[in-house]
Amino acid sequence: MNRFKLGFVFGLFLLALACNNDDGEVFSPFFSWKDDVQLGHQVNDQIRNDTTGQFPILDEDSFPEAYGHIRRILNTVLESSEIRYKDRFAYDSIKIINDNVLNAFATPGGYIYVYTGLIKYLDSEDHLAGVIGHEVAHAERRHSIKQMEKQYGFALISAVILGNDPSLLAEIVASLAGTLGTLKFSRDNEAESDDYSVRYLSSSDYACNGAAGFFRKLEDEGRCNESGEWLSTHPDPCNRVEAIDNKAGDLGCKTTDLDPGSYQDFINSLP
Ligand SMILES: [Zn+2]
Repeated sequence: MNRFKLGFVFGLFLLALACNNDDGEVFSPFFSWKDDVQLGHQVNDQIRNDTTGQFPILDEDSFPEAYGHIRRILNTVLESSEIRYKDRFAYDSIKIINDNVLNAFATPGGYIYVYTGLIKYLDSEDHLAGVIGHEVAHAERRHSIKQMEKQYGFALISAVILGNDPSLLAEIVASLAGTLGTLKFSRDNEAESDDYSVRYLSSSDYACNGAAGFFRKLEDEGRCNESGEWLSTHPDPCNRVEAIDNKAGDLGCKTTDLDPGSYQDFINSLP
């Protein structure tokens, strides 16, 4: 076989890999969902062991009621039949960070962090369910690892997964938390996560356009162009309300919020 033919066959091989992962969808040809879990595990360890005070995690033993609420909301989102990695990703490890910023993020492999500032800012449990649905979608659709592979390349991300590049790991943690703007989700990833948030909530009792509630409130308060944390990794928040509402219209799902009483109980259970 000459060099050209060899190259052609190798190209076909890569294409076959790219098209035939365990989900039958085109994802990274190099990283499987198990790599997402492993990378998420590294990121999660880094956050738990952080000594700089950036991630003041709310202690679950001291605030069992707050964790009861957030797990109940997350589990409702995860009941959607569209969730693929419920038993394989680390959704059970959800943590609340006691910091008054409007932020939430998900690592590859489904470690989710929600800040008390965001929980208290929202007016309804439906809106928090919508934001959690959006973060679950980033994990489920494996947006971060694909973005990281594009940005840093296969070799560097492999080293992080194996625990061999602590400085890049620290950079990735900062990017995911939005304190360092080196890793931005693309507009397509954002639109896809909004879309999936509506789909996940459509089979629940929540208003399926819950994610739009957060953006609507920012718009009402004239905070659409604010920077920092969630807003730095999620550009143009206020331009997304219409698409979310349109998706809810397409699916014909319920768009009225639940009674706000139980959500106030959640807020009252926070420090
Ligand atoms: Zn997002």
